[in-house]
Amino acid sequence: MIKNTVNLPELLLPAGDMEKLKAALAFGADAVYAGVPKYSLRTREIGFRQETLKEAVDYTHKLGKKIYLVMNIYAHNLKVNGFLKELDRIAEINPDGLIMSDPGLISQALKRYPHIAVHLSTQANTTNWTTVKFWRDLGVKRIILSRELHLDEIADMHRHVPDIELEAFVHGAICIAYSGRCLISNYLNHRDANQGTCTNSCRWEYKLAYDKGSILDVEKEQIPFEKTISIPDGFSLTEPKRHDEKMPVFEDEHGTYLMNSRDLCAVELLPDLVKAGVVSFKVEGRTKSAYYAAMTARSYRRAINDIADGKPFNPENLRDLMALSSRTYTTGFYTRNPRHFGENFGDGYSAGHTHRVTGILKSYDEKTGMGEFEIKNRMNIGMELELITPDNKMNFTLQTMKNLHGVDVHEAHGGAGNMYILMPCYPGDHAFLRQKII
Ligand code: SF4
Repeated sequence: MIKNTVNLPELLLPAGDMEKLKAALAFGADAVYAGVPKYSLRTREIGFRQETLKEAVDYTHKLGKKIYLVMNIYAHNLKVNGFLKELDRIAEINPDGLIMSDPGLISQALKRYPHIAVHLSTQANTTNWTTVKFWRDLGVKRIILSRELHLDEIADMHRHVPDIELEAFVHGAICIAYSGRCLISNYLNHRDANQGTCTNSCRWEYKLAYDKGSILDVEKEQIPFEKTISIPDGFSLTEPKRHDEKMPVFEDEHGTYLMNSRDLCAVELLPDLVKAGVVSFKVEGRTKSAYYAAMTARSYRRAINDIADGKPFNPENLRDLMALSSRTYTTGFYTRNPRHFGENFGDGYSAGHTHRVTGILKSYDEKTGMGEFEIKNRMNIGMELELITPDNKMNFTLQTMKNLHGVDVHEAHGGAGNMYILMPCYPGDHAFLRQKII
């Protein structure tokens, strides 16, 4: 399935730890990106340490693929010396590029290590061609485009400055703020998104509250609940100067979600992005699971291969992405301002929509035909499951499951550790089991 990808756009996947990195590469990524502890905007991601980053670089290079290391904090003075020392250590392990934001630190990196490519992080918010030109003249090799751009704007940037690589996000979470340049988390939780410690405060369960408590509680006390609903779908916010614009607000038993962006999914727009001059498709999600890394890599790999073969878009790729946990999808700003379809007011968490991952393959014994799986969610004998590998999908009924002592098990729950499961076919080195839930 995985073609020779020379001259095709690069498929770039997140690698939050070694397991996710291996899954992403096995299921079709050409390249991965991983955070340098303390200096990337995912400092809560604890998957890599200095030693394991070297292991990650070596593993990726052995497969003939690329790895970029993320050092995209905006450093305060206190962090500069530590950052530069870390830069020296990182240069030794030979990554294919550094993803950075801070102009001063970028100029230091270019001066000290001119042979290491610098990719300008989306956090630097490049939104016009003069900025692209500025960074190209400074020596930056690739611009990771701001997520708030229309396809036409990207094409225009490429027309004006064709001799620089353009990378675009195609999948994953989006901030309600300008590509994460936001202080909501800092104000509410003293954890600054610009220092890599965002707590996703924009997605918290906000209440429409008077000082007495929830607006619902207040209104229920005064008049019957049904009469408080002025529009069929629920409450709306209005602003005095814009009477005609009703911003819908839904409050469930947890609260309401005023600033919760849907997730980006641009799998149907890949040909347009290629035309606009994008050479690297990036998936967001270093803190997401190995299953997410594998399934997004698999779907986008197939979509890119179809473009290369001149085939039309295959809706199965979208269905597979729909099966993943998400805050529901939007195509972001690529074709229009997503004003009326950009937010998920319904809930603040990522929900799995059609499938649930139940196991991750750890090893396979050809003699017995049993695969050892880490159990992620409940499985029981008789359950209909789907085996997913980089090349195949196969439905089967779970008939035999044993614990590591070889004792038959009827049911196993997530967190139960590893179990042996009788496979319907050879699963290869990398595979997942999942269950259809709707
Ligand atoms: S609080 Fe929300 S909008 Fe702000 S940086 Fe974090 S995820 Fe982005």
